[in-house]
This record gives sequence, C-alpha cells and structure tokens, in this order.
Amino acid sequence: MTDSEQKIETAVIRTQTPASPHREHSSAIYMTSSFTFEDAEHARALFAREAEGQIYTRYGNPNVDEFIEKMCQLEGAPAGIALASGMSAVFTALAGLLNSGDHVLASRAVFGSTHQILTRILPRWGIGHSYVDGMDAEGWATAVRPTTRLCLVETPSNPALDLIDLAWLGEFCRARDIILLVDNVFATPVLQRPLTFGAHLVMHSATKYIDGQGRAIGGVLVGDRFLIDELTGFIRHTGPSLSPFNAWLFSKSLETLPLRMERHCANALKLAEFLEGQPQVAWVKYPHLPSHPQYELAKRQMKAGGGMVTFAVQGGLAQGRRFLDALQLCSLTANLGDTRTIATHPASTTHSSLTEEERQAVGISPGLIRISVGLEAVEDVMADVAQALAQSADDR
Ligand SMILES: *Cc1c(COP(=O)(O)O)cnc(C)c1O
Repeated sequence: MTDSEQKIETAVIRTQTPASPHREHSSAIYMTSSFTFEDAEHARALFAREAEGQIYTRYGNPNVDEFIEKMCQLEGAPAGIALASGMSAVFTALAGLLNSGDHVLASRAVFGSTHQILTRILPRWGIGHSYVDGMDAEGWATAVRPTTRLCLVETPSNPALDLIDLAWLGEFCRARDIILLVDNVFATPVLQRPLTFGAHLVMHSATKYIDGQGRAIGGVLVGDRFLIDELTGFIRHTGPSLSPFNAWLFSKSLETLPLRMERHCANALKLAEFLEGQPQVAWVKYPHLPSHPQYELAKRQMKAGGGMVTFAVQGGLAQGRRFLDALQLCSLTANLGDTRTIATHPASTTHSSLTEEERQAVGISPGLIRISVGLEAVEDVMADVAQALAQSADDR
C-alpha cells in the first residue's frame, strides 16, 4: 500500500524516519547540531541544494522533517516548516511574506500575541492592519484595500467559539490574490482542514492539541509550496528552528491525535449539553450544539465540535472568579488542548488588558468561562463543574 492510499490514522502512526543500523522500532532522537559531509564535493552539492541531505539543525533535522511530513499529511499540504513556538509560526508567516506598505486583514478575535504583532511590531516596518468581525461579509468587502496582501483568521475563535466560513473567505481571498492564513489551533486538522476550503497557509501552536499533554512549546506552518519555499529561506537565516527533541515529542504525539480528538470532542459535547441544563449558567457555546448560532456552518466545516466549551455563569466577574476558585479537579492554568481539563476566566486573566468595550467586541462577557475539556472520565469533570457552579451562586 502506498502512503497516499493509507488512512490518515495509519499514516501518522507509520510515517517514520528510516531506522538506524540499530533497527529501532520507535524513531531515534537526533540531538546533533550538524551533520557530516562525505567529502568536499558532497558538501558543495548540499549547500548548492543539488543533493538531498542534512547540513545543520537550524536548516533541518530528521526529527523535525518527520514531524513536518506528518503535519502535511494531516492538513493535506504539499509543504511545511516547523518552528520554535506557535507565535514564531505567526511571526514568520507575516515577517517572511509581507513588505513595507502591505496591509493585513484579520478577524477581530485573534490570539493575544498575534494582536501584539499586528499592533506593535509590524507598524514599525510600515505594515498596517484592519480588524473585521469574523462573520460580517460586508465588513470584509469594506475593509479590504488594494494593498491587502494577507488575511489572518482563527476559527473557532478564542474564547467565544465564533466561526468564520472558510469556503466563503477562501473564495474572497482567491478572487483578490490575497494570501489566506488560518490559525487552526482550536480545531486541529482532525476536525477541520482549511486548505480544502481555499486557504493558502495553516499555522499551529504544537503546544496545544498536537503535543496534547502540556509538555513542550512548538509551532508549524504548512501549505502552498511556493510560499513555504519563501519562508524556508527566511527561517534558515532568522533561526526560529524547532528543537529535535520537541519535534520527536510532537511526532510521537501525532500518532494519537485522531484518537485523542475523538475523546476530547465526545467529552466536550457531553459537558456542553450538561451545562445547558444548569440554572446557574446564562448561556453555553459549543460549535456542535444545535443552539450555536452557526450550527449549520459548524456541521459543514468541522467534523466534530472540538474540545473547547465556553459558557457564562449567571452574574458577572465575581461569580466567574468564584466558580474558578471552587474547582477542585479542573486545573487553573494558561494552556489548552491538554489531557487534563483546564478552566480559564478570560475577563480577569488572558483578556484583562482589553477595555470592557474591546472585550464585548470579541464576545467576552464578565462571567465567561472557557473550558478546555480533557480526557478524564467526563462524569468526574461534570461533577467538579456542578459543585463549583453551586458555590459560585451560593456565596453571592
Ligand atoms: C497558544 C496559541 C498560539 C500561540 O502558540 P505558542 O505555542 O504559545 O507560541 C496561537 N494561536 C492560538 C489560537 C493559540 O491557542
């Protein structure tokens, strides 16, 4: 059976760096800064890119290549690069592809550090941006400029779990020769493959579901071969390379990504349904709940609803904080996509630097709680959430 005939679940398990003379079953870790040349001519050919082979780990490494190959299989991408973090993937795409005078169009609810890059760093180099509300088709058409060279979106958004119609936006961008870059961290390629909807590039923070166990920081960009080639040249010299050890960790983790996502999604759907029935809960947002305003789109665009659930406790900031303080099983930490269920209160933490109006514009009410549903028995997670909800209301 050739690789292209294999199901994705098989390919991410069976794709592997050729074994060393030791015939190891699981991939070895190549902790080496450089690789040796056979002779002067081999060295010359490698540097001239006339021969295939490793030179120096800033340029490439067997573990990093294995991880990239699997990510390309998962996203259906022709090419990719791996980076030291999700943010270095975002920064590399923007700094590596844009020129002074270019304009970026982004969905309003982007990751906090992405917002910082757009508002604080790129303007220093004469690169501007505008924000558009994700689902506002007219807004995109009004905000686009002749200088718009790249669109950057996250769907589902963090933490409001609003969706952007990728097929629509893919067409919008292609009609105008604009590069579409999708941050696919929340959905993972198991649930959503933006390239099939017309995106040119997809980025991931491997730190989240790809590692899936909260152990390491990393990032990846996959997509159009021409764009990736341009970025490959850019990172060779700017050096945001992924370490071989982290690449090895992520590559091993990808073996279980399809299986883990199945459980994350099943647990999250059960928790979302449970929350909808609780009197202390004002509203619940989950892409594959029929009550989600974009349920039809979610069904079209995402294979399952994902591992993130957002809801609001009745009351406001005080009740939201009390809910968090009452949790016993769920972790309070600034991460997501872990085997362990994690709760966050964006209004007092991740989004506290925004004004109340800015928070409202991205759908963050004072009592909003974001849960990254883990792989524990969901009954235990629900029991913890239920007792914390009771306390959030009791102490009023
Ligand atoms: C975490 C995250 C990032 C940044 O990734 P790092 O690995 O922390 O640099 C970007 N986008 C989204 C949606 C994220 O959740």
